[in-house]
Amino acid sequence: MSIVVSGVTKYYGEQKALDNVSFQVKTGEIVAFLGPNGAGKSTMMKIITGYIPASSGSVIVNGIETSADNLEIRKKIGYLPENNPLYPEMYVREYLKFAASLYKTGKSAGKKIDHIIEVTGLAPEQKKKIGSLSKGFRQRVGLAQALIHDPDVLILDEATTGLDPNQVVEIRNLIRETGREKTVMLSTHIMQEAEAVCDRIIIIDKGVIVADEKKDDIYSKIRVPRQIIRVEFDRDPGEPALLTIPNVIITNHIKKNQWLIEAEGKDDIRPAVFSFAVRNNLTVLSLQKEESSLEEVFRHLTSG
Ligand code: ADP
Ligand code: MG
Repeated sequence: MSIVVSGVTKYYGEQKALDNVSFQVKTGEIVAFLGPNGAGKSTMMKIITGYIPASSGSVIVNGIETSADNLEIRKKIGYLPENNPLYPEMYVREYLKFAASLYKTGKSAGKKIDHIIEVTGLAPEQKKKIGSLSKGFRQRVGLAQALIHDPDVLILDEATTGLDPNQVVEIRNLIRETGREKTVMLSTHIMQEAEAVCDRIIIIDKGVIVADEKKDDIYSKIRVPRQIIRVEFDRDPGEPALLTIPNVIITNHIKKNQWLIEAEGKDDIRPAVFSFAVRNNLTVLSLQKEESSLEEVFRHLTSG
């Protein structure tokens, strides 16, 4: 089951929420759709699942074009919407039965419900009202609902938002396990989540895809044309002097004689710092390059 998104643009009135978005998700991949709030993640997911139409462009799931009136496609897709709307007055098992009936999963529905309750760890809670469950268990009910018809594609919109750290870990594990034989797309605004769960990361900002890389490649392929070094001198040169070093744009005084220096460009800034020290009769006591984290890559890609 693959997802092929081609040139999708979405307007809400005058506002362009998605601008010519294209990407593909292959069968069996777990892909993170990462971006700040308002980037267009939920909009893209609603279009993939056929809940709202695109203004232009197309989404093809396993060879079939999704559209708001294509109910066949919904049988192939499990969708956990943002904020996970549930029926608080319904009992867990009753709700899952209801969800299964919507997909007409047939005679074996009872068995399927048992299985999903088992997989999602809901057995002890199945006789409770949804409204009385903790947020973590409600998220499990949402996941169970998304899995009830054994879809090939899972679309999970901010599945761990609002959970406490233990619940986050549990839900991420659950996604990884249940997603093993499925094609999974998971939206998040949290870098660590993308790193923890996914093989590939697609970064979206202001409706535009700004990166699409395998997780292991994202540091090396997306070069951040900025570097930060931490330097300690034997005495304090002061900010104005430091700013005379070529390419240096920001300096930050950390503590006595220690500075963080941020420079533009890809050329290693360290030799220039050394010659600066020599020129000014300073001794460099230590000099370290700060690793650029995925967080930094993200900030860089989505700033401005
Ligand atoms: P994300 O899920 O990445 O936070 P959304 O897809 O929810 O982003 O929203 C993208 C942009 O579209 C935002 O600016 C948001 O305010 C706008 N938007 C989303 N839904 C609607 C809507 N139903 N009507 C008007 N604007 C909307
Ligand atoms: Mg959203």
